Amino acid sequence: MKLVFLGTASCYPTAHRAVSCTALKFEDGLVWLFDCGEGSQIQVQKSSIRPSRISKIFITHLHGDHLFGLSGLICTLGNQVMDRKDFILEIFGPKGLRRYVREVLCLSRSPLPFPFRVHELIPMDDQLPRNWASWGVNQEATGPPHPQELSGRDIQAENGIWNLLEDDQVTVQAGRVKHRVPTFGFVITECTKPGKLNVDKLKEMGLKPGPICATIKKGETVTLPSGQVIRPSDVIGPPILGRKISILGDTYNSDQMLDLVRNSDVLVHEATLEDAMKEKAIENGHSTPGMAADYALRAEVRKLVLYHFSQRYKSEPSEEEKLQQEAGDTDPKKIEDDGTDDGTEEDKNVSYVSILLAEASAALECSDCLVTIAEDLMELDVPRIRL
Ligand SMILES: [Zn+2]
Ligand SMILES: [Zn+2]
Repeated sequence: MKLVFLGTASCYPTAHRAVSCTALKFEDGLVWLFDCGEGSQIQVQKSSIRPSRISKIFITHLHGDHLFGLSGLICTLGNQVMDRKDFILEIFGPKGLRRYVREVLCLSRSPLPFPFRVHELIPMDDQLPRNWASWGVNQEATGPPHPQELSGRDIQAENGIWNLLEDDQVTVQAGRVKHRVPTFGFVITECTKPGKLNVDKLKEMGLKPGPICATIKKGETVTLPSGQVIRPSDVIGPPILGRKISILGDTYNSDQMLDLVRNSDVLVHEATLEDAMKEKAIENGHSTPGMAADYALRAEVRKLVLYHFSQRYKSEPSEEEKLQQEAGDTDPKKIEDDGTDDGTEEDKNVSYVSILLAEASAALECSDCLVTIAEDLMELDVPRIRL
């Protein structure tokens, strides 16, 4: 299981950093995408991900920097999955997403060689923005569906949790986080599997594969004709613990899903602005590294990954760029405009994402939680905890 960070910027894509899109790559090669900002399909092409392996897409909220790449990507997938029989593209996201996908694909008369369905998470009342009454939006998908559209589920919260998927491999649940529009975080939990049967030990006991072994594997104690008692713990290894990954959308407060996130192996959390700009960050519905670190500590996660950086923070310069700067040459990154989503004005001084990492590291210094900064196209293995 591997996370691939396809876009790590807030607001809008630039030549240096793409907007939100995070891929979760499974051992069998299948890929799920979390958010799909403008240009995500280009990032997919630059990465190790095969577009034809993308099977599910989850959208945290309907802001453009998390959504505007979705329709283009769906159309591109149409050229990639021709040979996949029984393929259905499953898309999950807030109420309104079904209408968005339907209208864009129908208005552009985009033919698709596979069916799709959009499952909507119905927000709770406390997720609606304060000005909802004065600027209401029609979120209902009332027009005729796309010829390839299958009906999706309307998923209501149960005790503040939206249950999206559950099979014998993995469950996916969503919780709500506070932002400027209804926004969700997704928690992916692998099922814990029973430990492996120690075949060598069974052989030592004179047992061959067969019904007795199957009974032991089911967790039952067996008494052999000789009177020897074999307990499952004698011959079965420790359980193989499933991994837990939490990917949160834009937020200035995620306390309402703290219990759901608790004990995650990896928490992917936004850090749009530095700690000195906390007030501005909160005003615009965002977090700082200190806020993300505080949340990671309270949620007792093992690893925090920061993403969704304001365009004011540049990647660290290469050695060549450093030499150019020392020689007084113009840094081309300096002349980029700043974002508007994060509410900051253009600043002539260049800041680097290392500031954000340093702030989160300082906040986590006395803890066991590790922290890293996501860069576009960075791949991160999610290791399994062994008992
Ligand atoms: Zn955003
Ligand atoms: Zn947003």
